[in-house]
Amino acid sequence: MKNLLDYNMEELMVWLKENSESSFRAKQIFSWIYKGIFSFDEMKNLPKNLKEKLNSNFKIYIPEVVDVYSSNLDGTKKMLLKLEDGNLIESVIMKYKHGNTICVSTQVGCRMGCKFCASTIEGRVRNLTSGEILGQVLRAGEVEGERISNIVLMGSGEPLDNYDNVVKFLREVNAEYGLNIGQRHITLSTCGLVPKIRDLSNEGLNVTLAISLHAFSDEKRREIMPIANKYSISEILEECRNYIEKTNRRVTFEYSLVKDINDSKEDAKALSKLLKGILCHVNLIPVNEIKENSFKRSSEKTIEDFAQILKSAGIEATVRREMGSDINAACGQLRRSYMKNKA
Ligand code: SAH
Repeated sequence: MKNLLDYNMEELMVWLKENSESSFRAKQIFSWIYKGIFSFDEMKNLPKNLKEKLNSNFKIYIPEVVDVYSSNLDGTKKMLLKLEDGNLIESVIMKYKHGNTICVSTQVGCRMGCKFCASTIEGRVRNLTSGEILGQVLRAGEVEGERISNIVLMGSGEPLDNYDNVVKFLREVNAEYGLNIGQRHITLSTCGLVPKIRDLSNEGLNVTLAISLHAFSDEKRREIMPIANKYSISEILEECRNYIEKTNRRVTFEYSLVKDINDSKEDAKALSKLLKGILCHVNLIPVNEIKENSFKRSSEKTIEDFAQILKSAGIEATVRREMGSDINAACGQLRRSYMKNKA
């Protein structure tokens, strides 16, 4: 049976027509779903025989909540969710002044192999469908009891390694009949799959592009990110310039600071030089220490100095405020510890 959430309006209209139903029903069905009604039987304006048809062809599957961990510090909620096939994923709800933000996963696991990241340790299990990504946002709205107004694709997985489903998801959440979340309120983070960044720039989507850079040179980057063997920083920056030109959007560079690896003043200076002249913003992320590796967080002073060097060079930089530090919120840690305990 198919998950209706994997269908968009157009596809449902086609299905309805093929099944001798009026296509306007699609709008009614989606409007119920986006009101939080996940059962066809409760969709009051649908005729009985249509409900039966829908019930025998579709289900509405929203990932199930296994656990919610709430931070006492800042209200961050980490959800451990179960998919229909039993796979577990994580999504995080963060409460910012500018609105509730959800961090969604796009794959079960990840195959990019970044050395500091917990999500990738056991590789990629599978891609999430567009409906499973959307389902995380719907579930978050329910758990939070408030509108989710911002989305970051920064959970487990590499969004551009699941390109079609991710783009379909982006259009769905943006749709007026859907959650109507503006593209400016959506950030897609990638480790830098160059051809896919080019494709994304041609989609007519104006989401914010975030690049996980983490190093100023290819040589350094290769030590922590295997993807750097495939694409060079200069190729990535060329795609960024193209993305900026097409979308008029400022690009974000993520830079996870790891003690003695990429956090020296020389690193900061070289990074400033590299990014000079690009419409961008640097997001410094003090590395989240995980027990599977020995990467250590830079000291507060080092982090401050690093940010200051960038700023002095005219590059906008902010240090990412750590959210939910009391609830083990780094990517992939929750799923891993849960699976370990079960095993
Ligand atoms: N695959 C995408 C999205 C994943 S995670 C990407 O690579 O961008 C979002 C960000 O968190 C990425 O910049 C990633 O490199 C970073 N990250 C992953 N694990 C981390 C850790 N332990 N500490 C700090 N940042 C981490």
